[in-house]
Amino acid sequence: MPDLRELYQDVILEHSKAPRNYRELGAANRKAEGFNPLCGDRYIVYLDLDGDAVRDIAFQGSGCAISKASASLMTQSVKGKTQSQIEELFQDFHKIVTGQTSAESSAPEVGKLSVFAGVSAYPVRVKCATLAWHTLRAALAGGDQSVSTE
Ligand code: ZN
Repeated sequence: MPDLRELYQDVILEHSKAPRNYRELGAANRKAEGFNPLCGDRYIVYLDLDGDAVRDIAFQGSGCAISKASASLMTQSVKGKTQSQIEELFQDFHKIVTGQTSAESSAPEVGKLSVFAGVSAYPVRVKCATLAWHTLRAALAGGDQSVSTE
């Protein structure tokens, strides 16, 4: 059996080195900027919203490996979903990174997002892991918003 914690770190490392959907989205009709002053993570999330569903999503910016990997996995997991599905997923993700749910007992939709379960032991890192999600929610809420974790 591979060490689970090691496996999780591999996924985070891989996504931080080669983030998915890392580009500017020309067709974006929503965007928001998120900033985590504790770590210096800063990202813009672009959304192409088709009615209530995310047709396409992309992000750009810079920050630590956890924040970048989280943004990468977030874009993969919300594409094609509706706002209420995304909100549900965020709540499940939040429970995992804050240690309220274990990765093993999380909802199946959470999937790869459970790799961030390890951050629950580090409150500062929780902000890194959730930054992209807060930024996504700001973009979904409309306007050209910016959010800060502080
Ligand atoms: Zn960070």
